[in-house]
Amino acid sequence: MEQKEKMESSWSNGQVTDSAPQWAKYRQIMTGDFPSPFRGSDDPLAQAIMKAIQKIDNLRPEKGGPAYLGSSSKLTYEYPDVKAASIKPESQDLDSVMEDTINLFQGMPNVASPLTMANVWPQPNTASIIASIFPLIFMPNIIEGEYSWNVHKAELESAGMIANLFGWEPTKAGCIYTYGGSGCWLYGLKYALTRVLPDSRNKGIRTDAKVLCSAQSHYCRENETDWTGLGMDNIVLIPTDDTTNQMSLEALEERLKEFQSQGIPVASIICTMGTTDASVFDPIAEVRQLMDKYPNPQGYGQTLLYADAVAGWSWIMFDQYDFESNPLEFSQEVLAIAKKNMEIIKGIHYADAIGVDFHKFGWSPYVSSCFVYKDAAEFENILRRGSYAYLQEVTPYNPMYYTLEVSRSAAGSLAGWATMKYLGVKGFQSILGGILEVRYYLQTLIDEHPQMVMADADDDGFITLFRVYPEGVDADSQFNKELTDKNYRGDLIKYNQFTEAIGEKLFNWYLSGKQVNGKYTPHMAYSTGFRNADYNPDGTDPEAVIYALKCYPMNVFVTPEVMKHALNCVIAARDEVLQEMK
Ligand SMILES: *Cc1c(COP(=O)(O)O)cnc(C)c1O
Repeated sequence: MEQKEKMESSWSNGQVTDSAPQWAKYRQIMTGDFPSPFRGSDDPLAQAIMKAIQKIDNLRPEKGGPAYLGSSSKLTYEYPDVKAASIKPESQDLDSVMEDTINLFQGMPNVASPLTMANVWPQPNTASIIASIFPLIFMPNIIEGEYSWNVHKAELESAGMIANLFGWEPTKAGCIYTYGGSGCWLYGLKYALTRVLPDSRNKGIRTDAKVLCSAQSHYCRENETDWTGLGMDNIVLIPTDDTTNQMSLEALEERLKEFQSQGIPVASIICTMGTTDASVFDPIAEVRQLMDKYPNPQGYGQTLLYADAVAGWSWIMFDQYDFESNPLEFSQEVLAIAKKNMEIIKGIHYADAIGVDFHKFGWSPYVSSCFVYKDAAEFENILRRGSYAYLQEVTPYNPMYYTLEVSRSAAGSLAGWATMKYLGVKGFQSILGGILEVRYYLQTLIDEHPQMVMADADDDGFITLFRVYPEGVDADSQFNKELTDKNYRGDLIKYNQFTEAIGEKLFNWYLSGKQVNGKYTPHMAYSTGFRNADYNPDGTDPEAVIYALKCYPMNVFVTPEVMKHALNCVIAARDEVLQEMK
């Protein structure tokens, strides 16, 4: 009875009183910073965000500043010593926790900088950032309808918007936002295993069903076959054509024929629709024909065709582009690439499911990957797990019955959905095409420079891989010899090391805030063997591979001037490396 009275006298008007117990007083210190449950101008969250926003502005460089955040690119921890951390006995005030948090961003590569050109690493657009902040505040759980309500429309409309792009019936399709392009792959594989080996859901995988993908497919094939328990040995790599880099249809047919004659089922064929770097697309329409020609043996379900389009899907935005009148005034080179990529990505129409990353060519924050399936009735039924006494269905959409995840954040779905609304088709076209224009400008500069040569001149993607040679060496003919002539193996290895030294120097210059011609140097990358020498097709000679400097300009603020400067930095780094070799 005494306890009941103490509880009742501890609050007045929602505030603790002097007689309140210590826990209530201590808790109130923190609840003073929690987001306000009610409307008004004194929301602690809004005020704290305002303060933090001002502080993060200080992380950004001055105009023309270096390509990292904050005042130094120094890494401020030692590993594993950093893990000798423990939670403090007392609570800390919000400002100091935010100060510490902001400090974690000190020195990080700045994704917004036009000098950042190292990888598929886009700066998220404003609509996607703000859209994905809301669920952090209101905590929708897209596991089911009751805890997400209308927020579910972001996922449902995404399914329709993407299905429409690829010519699928939007109301019959569906999608799940999940944890990455790798998560999409896993969903695709689980769908395939469930369809082809229905018993596997209860009894486990007891058959070595095969997963066929091109030799240039993404390495996450290993994560997914490993984690599903299918086993990495069941990956069958189909060789690619030397000139197109596409999955070889002859080789695919051979393997399909062989598996059929041996009674071995094929769980899935994966068409990579846009490889991460070279932007290669597998011939999906022809793959579908072959699949239909070699169905699985009796007793197994139909092979699933999965399109790993996480890095290439947005080329579909050019489907509606008028290439004749060219309203966005792209150059002929860019028009040709956009048209070619669009025509091949359209083949996704033939897939059963597709993976889409918004955090790549969708300029959205992590993670906003979307696994989209053509036949919602099939996918959602064959993957269904019983009923959940714990949750009630109060809306028509309750994906908890067939998802990998239990709780799911809405941040990814809101980011993807808001991006599609905000950019629209034309926005995607102008950003994608614009980046390609910059890439072609860079290629022109490289072509014009006697000591530079493109190492990937046939590629239709955004990456530029190139080599630079010392003064006096004719880059075109030198590289051609290294690429094709075994007698130049020694030169190839020598200039590979040279390329690596330049790449390392550029990286260290970027880190140290070095300036060339009064301007900070770019954050670029280099590749140690993105392709083999022509006389080493199978890679049996591990040293007869091509190293190259790598430039991946995805930034929307990048200009021709920045690209010109980047090449000046490459030349300066080359000269310093040569100087050091003397
Ligand atoms: C990036 C990529 C993946 C992996 O996607 P994440 O979003 O990084 O998990 C898979 N496939 C391809 C072709 C990719 O480019």
